[in-house]
Order: sequence, then C-alpha cells, then structure tokens
Amino acid sequence: MQIHLKTLGCRLNEAELETWAQDFQAAGHSISRELDNANLVVLNSCAVTEDAVRKSKQLIRRIHRDNPQAKLVVSGCYATLNETEAAQLLGVDLIINNKDKNRLVEKTLSELNLDSMPALSTEPGEVSLFSRGRQRAFVKVQDGCRYRCTFCIVTVARGEEQSRPVSAVLDEINRLHEQGINEVIITGVHLGGYGSDINSNLLELIQAILDNTTIPRLRLGSLEPWELSDGFFELFKNPRLLPHLHLPLQSGSDAVLRRMARRCKTEEFSQLVMQARAAIPNFNLTTDIIVGFPGETEQEWQESYDFIRKLGFGHIHIFSYSPREGTKAAELSQQISQELKKQRSRQLHELAESMKQNFIAENIGNTAEILWEGHSEMLNNGNTRYFGYTPNYLRVACEVAQGTALENRILSGRLLRAQLGFIQVDLE
Ligand code: SF4
Repeated sequence: MQIHLKTLGCRLNEAELETWAQDFQAAGHSISRELDNANLVVLNSCAVTEDAVRKSKQLIRRIHRDNPQAKLVVSGCYATLNETEAAQLLGVDLIINNKDKNRLVEKTLSELNLDSMPALSTEPGEVSLFSRGRQRAFVKVQDGCRYRCTFCIVTVARGEEQSRPVSAVLDEINRLHEQGINEVIITGVHLGGYGSDINSNLLELIQAILDNTTIPRLRLGSLEPWELSDGFFELFKNPRLLPHLHLPLQSGSDAVLRRMARRCKTEEFSQLVMQARAAIPNFNLTTDIIVGFPGETEQEWQESYDFIRKLGFGHIHIFSYSPREGTKAAELSQQISQELKKQRSRQLHELAESMKQNFIAENIGNTAEILWEGHSEMLNNGNTRYFGYTPNYLRVACEVAQGTALENRILSGRLLRAQLGFIQVDLE
C-alpha cells in the first residue's frame, strides 16, 4: 500500500510523521511523496491559531478532492479538539485522537482493515522489517524459491533458486564497509535455501563472511524456519552475528500450516526456538502471522493463538489473508469474512503488543552495543535525542548535548526504561 503523509504545524508534528513513516514501513507498506497514487493519506493537523484550523480544514478538502479514492486519516490538534466536526468532513475515514497518536499506525491498519498481505512473501518484508540508512545496508544473496507455499506468489513470480557466489557477497560487503556501512543484513527470497544450487549452504556463507570481512555487525533477514544446518546456532557465539531471527511461522495451527503447505510444523518450530534461546543470549525472535487463512476454524484460530502466546515473540508482523491470483490458496473454498479477519487481527495485535512489552521489560537493565543512526530530534531543553538499535533489534534512544555527533558510531549503553516507541538508554 502506498501511503502519503502530510503535516501542518509544529516540529513535534513533523517528528511524529517520521515515526509513523517508519512504523508503516515496518508493517510492509511504502511511503509515497505523491498524493495522486496514494491508497492512504494521513494528515497530522494543527489548531494553534484560527488560521491553522482553517488551513487544516482546507487541506482535508483538498486531499479528498485531489485523490478521492484514498482513505483519509486525520490526527493532530485540530482533529482532537474538533473531533465531531472533523469526522464529518467529506472524505475523512478515521480520526485518531492525540492520546492515541503513538498507536496511529496499528489503529489505522486494523480499523480500516488495511493490514493485508504484502505482494510477495519474505523479500519485501526485509525492507519493511529493518530500517535502512547510511549505517545499515541490505545485501541480497539469493533469489527464487523451490517451495510452493499455497499463499505465496514468489515461486510464480521469481522462479527457481539462484545463489550468488560467496566471493561476490564478500566483495560487496567489503565494499560497503569501506564506504562506512557498519551493519549488513543478508537477505534472500528463501534465505535458508542459500547454496542449494551451488553446493553450499547458509552456514558456510555466514562463516565465510565472519572470517573474510571485518564488518562489525551482520544480521540475517527473514528466514524460513527449515533447512537450517546442524551447528547453525553455534555461529552466534561470534557477537558480530546479531542475536535476532525473523522466522515466519504464519500460523500456530498444524492443520492450517498443512493447507498452507508449510515445511515446518509447530513442534519443529518450538524445537528450533528452544535451541536458539539456549544458544544465544538475549535472543530476539520475531515472526509473520497470517490471520484468516481460508477455512481457519474457530478451533484452529484458538490453537494458533495459544501456540503464539506460549512461544512468545518480540514482534509480530500480522497480515490479514488476502487472495493473490495465481496461488493455490486463492482457489480454496471457505474464504474468511472481512469482519472475522479484522476481529482476529485485532486480538493478535493486542497479544503481540503485550509480548513485545514483556520482551522489552526482560531487556531493561542490560548493557548493549548500540549502532546509532542519523535520525535524531531536538528537544525543548536544547539537547539532541538520537535513535539506534541494539544487536537484538530493540529501538533505543539517548539524549546528548547539542553538537555531540553519534551517527554511525557503535557505543555501549544501558537500557533504562521503556518510553513511547523506544527504550531510553544511558551511554556508558
Ligand atoms: S518458502 Fe514458501 S513463503 Fe517462503 S518464498 Fe518459498 S513459497 Fe514463498
């Protein structure tokens, strides 16, 4: 989905826009500079003066006039102070009150039922899962997939597996490192299948990267939870390989997994997670779940929900199933109603949020090596707030005196407390 974000008013409104942009991208959507091709428009309105109120209303009318097809969400001070009036303006689909601003993305996607599946499976997920920047880069190591999960269009769109030679991957990583990149995320359509066509495997590739490059941080992109060779988790003894895995589970019900033609059932998934948690300190497990897959009964949904809760995840990408032409699942009977998908999606969002908070709480008090990013904001007290990520991919922030440059540095910090959208850190 293409999303166009607009703001009126203060710097705070602008900063919120930046956070929403990141959150929408994390949920698998793209930010568009153009209003014309947007499917969703979010306006952060203002009411600081009468003129600002007038401009907010004018902008709402103009957005609707220029792109009447797009859904329109309005937040900010005008929408909060004049909620009833704003909700009645032509074209407005949803008002998000200022007190719910930190949940704007989640609320928008679930209330407007927009959290549908991405066009392809794992690959675009990478881009949405991890923020890019001048300090982090993606390196694609393979394409294609030899499996046939019934909801996935990848095999139709991308064909058979093709792996890049290890030497080409090493060259690229070394080049990126020379250019100042400090963290590389290796990705593929079916990353776990790396090497199947060149007589190698993912373990060998990672080992080669660790041995033949000096890139400080190596992260793995989304990885189907099968085909991991023996000794895979041993690799994480090297702290340069970051302790975070995004393993798409898709459903916690074996019957649904069978209909999806997934190669990893719940028992194997649990075993894998137990091994990872035993071997890797502070390991963060994140996943993708599709709700409302065709024929998902109440009992299957409950099984899935219970399994997800039992396992615990640091983050879940939740997709409401939407049929894709050319896939087997699109032809299955018993498609689930939008209403039910919405209800299950909401239930899972709540669970995901509480599991995320639990994971954050477990990490409070830890010390971590943080890669600080370019994204920063000025605070009222004159200090600058920098944002960064821990090795296990928790978003953190710290406050430093104006003029202190942290961008692209890896510095140790202690995780103090959770705030809205990040964990406050004290630099050591
Ligand atoms: S393993 Fe399944 S979901 Fe993943 S790319 Fe292959 S067919 Fe698609």
